[in-house]
Amino acid sequence: MNVLVLNAGSSSLKYQLFNMQTGEVSAKGVCDRVGTTEALHVYEAGEVEQEEQLSLLNHLEAIKAAVAALTHPHHGVIQDLSEINAIGHRVVHGGDYFVESVVIDDEVIARIEECVGLAPLHNPAGLAGIRACVELMEGTPQVAVFDTSFHQTMPAKAYRYPLPTKYFEDLKIRRYGFHGTSHRYVAQRAAEFLGKPVEDLRLITCHLGNGCSIAAINKGKSVDTSMGFTPLDGLMMGTRTGSIDPAILLYLEDYQGMSAEDINKLLNKESGLLGVSELSNDLRDVGTAAKDGNEKAQLAIDMYAYYAKRFIGSYTFAMGAVDAIVFTAGVGENAVDMRQMMLEGLEEQGIIIDAELNAKRGGDRSISADESAVKVLVIPTNEELMIAQDVKSLVGS
Ligand code: ADP
Repeated sequence: MNVLVLNAGSSSLKYQLFNMQTGEVSAKGVCDRVGTTEALHVYEAGEVEQEEQLSLLNHLEAIKAAVAALTHPHHGVIQDLSEINAIGHRVVHGGDYFVESVVIDDEVIARIEECVGLAPLHNPAGLAGIRACVELMEGTPQVAVFDTSFHQTMPAKAYRYPLPTKYFEDLKIRRYGFHGTSHRYVAQRAAEFLGKPVEDLRLITCHLGNGCSIAAINKGKSVDTSMGFTPLDGLMMGTRTGSIDPAILLYLEDYQGMSAEDINKLLNKESGLLGVSELSNDLRDVGTAAKDGNEKAQLAIDMYAYYAKRFIGSYTFAMGAVDAIVFTAGVGENAVDMRQMMLEGLEEQGIIIDAELNAKRGGDRSISADESAVKVLVIPTNEELMIAQDVKSLVGS
């Protein structure tokens, strides 16, 4: 079975073709600057790696470019589209409609459309990808996998905000949470790694990339997560503030005359590591500057670690205890010093990192000391594989 996994962003399209017999990726690619006449398509299959600049005015054209590469007589990996047995789409927002991945039909498309207001940059791209596939590969089963659905198991006390109830009932303002596919994947892998059923574990999973979120996963179900109504909430991130006192926004509006658009840009694009360090949103650059004695960079790093430590602490209490803490994504998988800082001084809580193990690179691994009651794991995320597996389990037979 061949499954095409598509991740359509506002101006990009990423794709991977999985052979589900082997679980391997046969080919993959990225189209950037979709919507322009100067898009870039990078395609990889085995030894082949090629780049082309071309006009891709919309997602349909990007998917056509992907399909042309996949079926190319020389570097393609399939003869024609009939060899794609099913398609999996990453969709950012499923609102409170979708608690798991679903086979796409007209009703599902209508629901995803209803959620556009909740994810105005992302859901239209996902819909464009779905519609393009309907046009190009009519009859091929399609599955939607939502970033939000894994967190639909949160109890109301975790997902409600203390606003008047009508804001929840009429406007659906609540915590949704994101990165759900990644949290679900690493939780599953963590259970496999520990050789225990996920139902026997209390996990805290830390997805730390450009966007960052932490989830509390009790018995395999998300019971709380740091991103909220939008992906701006929670942890300090590359360019996003994470949680701040909401009255700061009123102050900026009333006393500094900033518009909603200015404030949106400030909170999403100009803050976080970049804003505090005044250098970069990339933890590597900020880390290097801090080591060279740059005080703003050092503070940015200290705050970034402290925000995460706070969430790890509060989720431990929320679940009563924690069996394993899992790090994933760009920072979580690679930033040795940052992992150490986030869990520093927690020996009394039974959380002890082994410095030597922490410094090692590799795939799924444990970095906690033998005497650490809480396991600390690093598990590289693989959202595309999780999507492909969902597709297989929904339409594989
Ligand atoms: P995205 O959220 O865009 O998918 P990634 O998961 O790729 O992002 O994470 C990107 C971040 O990972 C970068 O901002 C960078 O700071 C961080 N990162 C990657 N490699 C390292 C490393 N070796 N040390 C520290 N940080 C790293």
